[in-house]
Amino acid sequence: QELIAKLEATIENISDFPIPGIQFKDISPIFLDPKLYEEVIEDLVKFSKGKVDAVCGIESRGYLFGIAIAVALEVPFILIRKKGKLPPPIISEKYDLEYGSAEIETREGQIKKGQRILIHDDLLATGGTTEAAAKLVQKQGAEVVQFSFLIGLKGLNGDEKLKKFNAEIYHTLE
Ligand code: 5GP
Repeated sequence: QELIAKLEATIENISDFPIPGIQFKDISPIFLDPKLYEEVIEDLVKFSKGKVDAVCGIESRGYLFGIAIAVALEVPFILIRKKGKLPPPIISEKYDLEYGSAEIETREGQIKKGQRILIHDDLLATGGTTEAAAKLVQKQGAEVVQFSFLIGLKGLNGDEKLKKFNAEIYHTLE
């Protein structure tokens, strides 16, 4: 609709960044337009309203929308960070990258047992990062009930990878 058209006109597609052959979607122009930002948040909030007890955002672009979603829903926001950024005690989860591996972390005790969790990030590509985030949430006895993304890239099977969590998946834009 109108929001999708506006986003398509605003998000910049940059060829060969950060490496040759990759087309990077730069979402930073959205933040130059506060009205558009508000509309994006409204759209993402609508998907989760009344359905989650807390929002987990993935570093770092997941924070740009995630915290506003949590505030609008009046639920806690929990940071999922890259290794080494959070002070102890922490819970962590390792995952494989195309080359090598990575690790993400949350502060222990911030996610509560039995909570219904929304995991949010700006963009879903292969789903590797989000899958690790979902495992990290489950490790803490909470339930991943929703995933939301501003952008879900087609053709990389991100949605497929997330199916096993039996959670709702939403992207504003494909
Ligand atoms: P995945 O783990 O699904 O393959 O990659 C998703 C992660 O990479 C997200 O955290 C996202 O922020 C980042 N990412 C990958 N490609 C892009 C891109 O083209 N634009 C933006 N903004 N983020 C990207």
